[in-house]
Amino acid sequence: MLISVMLSAQCTDERVNKTTPDLFKKYNTPEKMVKADIREIEKIIHPCGFYKNKSKNILACSKKIIEDFNGIVPDNMEELQKLPGIGRKSANVIMLEAFHNPQGIAVDTHAKRIANRIGFSKETDPEKVEKDLLKQIPKKYYYDVNHLFVWHGRKTCMARNPKCDNCPVKKYCENYK
Ligand code: SF4
Repeated sequence: MLISVMLSAQCTDERVNKTTPDLFKKYNTPEKMVKADIREIEKIIHPCGFYKNKSKNILACSKKIIEDFNGIVPDNMEELQKLPGIGRKSANVIMLEAFHNPQGIAVDTHAKRIANRIGFSKETDPEKVEKDLLKQIPKKYYYDVNHLFVWHGRKTCMARNPKCDNCPVKKYCENYK
C-alpha cells in the first residue's frame, strides 16, 4: 500500500494497479527493494510518471524502514510522515486503507474541490482544508468521508460540469445556492 500510494502521485489508480504486480513480483520486501538496481525500478514504474523521483523515494523509504523501523511500515501518522516521499495526504491514505484506522481526511483534488464548493473550507492549501474539515466532521465518519469525497468527485461533483441538479447534497451546497 505504501509503495502504491507513492506511485499514485499524478497517476491513475488503474495504471498503478497494472504496474505494481511486476514490481512486487521481484521486490516484495524492503530488504529486497534496497538491493534493487534503481534502473530496474525506474524501468518497471516508468508508466506511472515521475519515475526517477518515485524510484529514488521508494529506495530511500525502504532503507529508512529497515534502519529506523525494524523493517516494518509504521502504523501512525507521525512516523509515516518521516518516510521519504510520504506527506500528510499519503499518510492519511495509508492509515485508512492499510491499517483501517483513519486519523484524518486525505485531501486530494476531489476533497479540496468539494470542500470549497460545499463551503466546508475556503482554503486552497490541502493541509488547511483538512484542518477545516476536521473541525466539522466527527471522527466516526472519517472512514466513510474519505471514500465519499473521491466517489462524489468522480461521479457527480466533477471539476468541469458538475451534475448539480442531480446532486444528493445540493441543498447543503453554497455553490448551488
Ligand atoms: S451541488 Fe454541485 S457543486 Fe455542490 S456538491 Fe453537488 S455537484 Fe458539487
